[in-house]
Amino acid sequence: MRGYYEKTPEESLEMLGVTRNGLNDEEITKRREKYGFNELEEAARKSPFRVFLEQFKDFLVIILLGAAIISAFLGKLESTIVIMVVVIINSILGTIQHIKAEQSLKGLKALSSPVAKVFRNGQKIEIPSRELLVGDILYLDAGDYVSADGRILESFSLQVNESSLTGESESVLKFIDVINKDDVSIGDRKNMVFSGSFVTYGRGVVLVTSIGMNTEIGKIANLLESAKEKKTPLQVGLDNFGKKLAFVILIISAIIFGLDIFRGRNIIDSFMFAVSLAVAAIPEALSSIVTIVLALGTQKMAKKNAIVRKLHAVESLGSISVICSDKTGTLTQNKMTVQKVFVDGKVLDHDSLDHDKTLEKNLVLMALLCNDAVTVENKEIGDPTEVALVNLGEVYELDELIIRDQYPRLGEVPFDSDRKLMSTIHQFNDKYIMLTKGALDVLLSRTVKVETSEGIMDFTEEHKKEIEEINRKFSMDGLRVLSFAYKEISEGKEITFEDEYDLIFVGLIAMMDPPRNESKEAVEKCIKAGIKPVMITGDHKITASAIAKQIGILKDESEAMEGFELEKISDEELKNKVDKISVYARVSPEHKIRIVRAWQEKGNIVAMTGDGVNDAPALKQADIGIAMGITGTEVAKDAASIVLADDNFSTIVKSISNGRSIYANIKNSIKFLLSGNTAGILSVLYASIGALPIPFAAVHLLFINLVTDSLPAIAIGLEPHNENIMKEKPRNINVPILNKSFAIEVIMEGLLIAIVTMAAFHIGLYTGGAEVASTMAFATLCLSRLLHGFNCRSKESIFKIGLFTNKTIWIAAIIGYLLLLLVLTFRPLSGIFEVSALNSMEFSYIYGLSVIPLIIVQIYKLLFVRDKA
Ligand code: ATP
Repeated sequence: MRGYYEKTPEESLEMLGVTRNGLNDEEITKRREKYGFNELEEAARKSPFRVFLEQFKDFLVIILLGAAIISAFLGKLESTIVIMVVVIINSILGTIQHIKAEQSLKGLKALSSPVAKVFRNGQKIEIPSRELLVGDILYLDAGDYVSADGRILESFSLQVNESSLTGESESVLKFIDVINKDDVSIGDRKNMVFSGSFVTYGRGVVLVTSIGMNTEIGKIANLLESAKEKKTPLQVGLDNFGKKLAFVILIISAIIFGLDIFRGRNIIDSFMFAVSLAVAAIPEALSSIVTIVLALGTQKMAKKNAIVRKLHAVESLGSISVICSDKTGTLTQNKMTVQKVFVDGKVLDHDSLDHDKTLEKNLVLMALLCNDAVTVENKEIGDPTEVALVNLGEVYELDELIIRDQYPRLGEVPFDSDRKLMSTIHQFNDKYIMLTKGALDVLLSRTVKVETSEGIMDFTEEHKKEIEEINRKFSMDGLRVLSFAYKEISEGKEITFEDEYDLIFVGLIAMMDPPRNESKEAVEKCIKAGIKPVMITGDHKITASAIAKQIGILKDESEAMEGFELEKISDEELKNKVDKISVYARVSPEHKIRIVRAWQEKGNIVAMTGDGVNDAPALKQADIGIAMGITGTEVAKDAASIVLADDNFSTIVKSISNGRSIYANIKNSIKFLLSGNTAGILSVLYASIGALPIPFAAVHLLFINLVTDSLPAIAIGLEPHNENIMKEKPRNINVPILNKSFAIEVIMEGLLIAIVTMAAFHIGLYTGGAEVASTMAFATLCLSRLLHGFNCRSKESIFKIGLFTNKTIWIAAIIGYLLLLLVLTFRPLSGIFEVSALNSMEFSYIYGLSVIPLIIVQIYKLLFVRDKA
């Protein structure tokens, strides 16, 4: 069969049995059965059972299993059972955590999955790319990902980057003509587009010819490895730390094993004890706690409209010290309404144009024709700037679709935010006219004439001054100004941006885009949190400054800079003055990279927002690239680490606040694990060095490990958000989580728990002998660790953050306590858990001692931590 590139668009449509009107519902159902979904097959996900089995690959679990087998051979079946129960429960918990984390990440992926614009049932609609079918009529705009292979039906300067298929990084200009050649390579099939590429410029309409595994990329990709989330820097750091710590603990365990044997203890018991000590002291849960807290945290953030695409972003969020944000739509509402019009030397309100006056009427026609937006059934589709112009037409009962039918578009140069202009060609009577609209400064520099009711005149300095003065007034009121011009061209001429010269100026249309209600408060919060908000916009400097002033980003006009000024200074000069600039106006996407770099070179962690295809490099350069979910292009979303589902600046600030909390929670959780384990090790070392009886049975250590390392650690990771965290300065990203002060706290708190545990041990030795002592030490260590969980909730005292604000930690502590009580008091279990019966006095000692670390740490926090915060 000949390829579609050898067919005309009409032949291709016929071959696939469709028309330019697209598929209808009946066809969609039929074709869905025939072609399935547009997806590349992924390698099958691991089943829960497999995840469960994989838990047994862990080094510690293998040691434990070895110990269980040895016990079984020695006839100590009870130990074997206990160890097996511990291993199985641990593995089940591990499996649940893994699946939960995976599900929430998968949910996040689904939230940011790409969409495609198609023509179906006679209407332009958006669908998930996964639902594309062979025969669909697909629309492509700059910044879209091409998600199926297709034959081009219409191309308006359509340029596509196909580097993922061909390795060629230059964009390819696409056309519709037939290519009459055999064996044309993919890169040369310039009348086709291919899945996996993206549109860098222009616009096109495409007939989908293959989807899913039948696309060219599907053929080479074969099975996609289900994308594995890379470990975050924190996870890598903790893994490394965990390994080193495990090594140290194994050595300590070996020494204790040697000492025990030396003191004439039974080899098997000594071995079991050493193994249990290792298991209890090695913080194997570190990395998985980070994963689960990050995953649950991102789920929470998604509910608040911030979709995290890269997990490591959550960790860096708390270190952000600069947010470079777009204006339009992010700080403002992106709901534009035309307020004022300037035409024929007069400033008019948006509803007072006189349609009997040719010039006034023509300006509205130009606004509707040089425009891609539509309103269908009251739904506005398109760029809000252009939607505002469509709505202006409605004031005069002009329907954009009827007008566009009357004066069809014969050619165009699409808008792009570098050029800041857009042009279209139409036929009026027997003349061919190019209509151009865009930023006034750009347009005026290309204007040679001006149209007034007295006719077309030369464009003089006076005209220029007058127009600029009007523009200044509009802008001072925060209005966004578009200017309109035209020129006659010869018939059938295809235009490019090089034709946008020698224009005849017609008028200005100024629209209001009010700031979002939340912006001002969010900016204030940023500043309090030591974060500098910076506005970067393509809009005019005066408009931008007016809006920036309203929301508190800019105080003095001198803090604003324009793109052309930026071009005149070197990177070094920019770096020197970057912290004095709060607003960048009339910038192009390339300027954004320089601004990010300048801030980064000053040691800042920078978040940058973006939406266009040209924003992708700046989004990648920023420490955290943030793409707009509603107005953003697929390319920008792909380059970003966070996507804002509501495009709202205040969501960025909320995310930073959440990011700070998540990091703090992870840190607290780690502190809980490490300080508890330290307590265990110190107690054992103390007894060993002091030649006391062994303070714990192996099964005690396993029990404590099971009860405290799981639920309470996660509960601390789920500590609710505390707004006070935004009163602190951004966290220095170069200070590791496990720094000196953190280590001191871990050791001090571990020591405190060890002291009360050993006190209980000595009391037990005194009142009831070695067995009672061991039971009391076990119970005290377990209970004080559970209570210590409350200490680890926050830097601040629990009385300040609210005793009951974290319900999960209560549940975890109560479950742990009930299990402990069961083991201590339910006689049939005494044998297995090697505990002896305690009297009420002994119980009182346990309670009294266990609560001491809680009291001391809380008093310390009440007295000293407040000042630090
Ligand atoms: P931000 O970067 O804050 O989103 P912006 O939306 O104002 O800023 P652009 O969309 O790049 O940035 O617009 C820059 C300028 O280009 C506008 O001030 C306006 O003059 C002009 N412009 C915007 N949209 C169009 C359009 N659809 N057609 C023609 N000109 C436009």
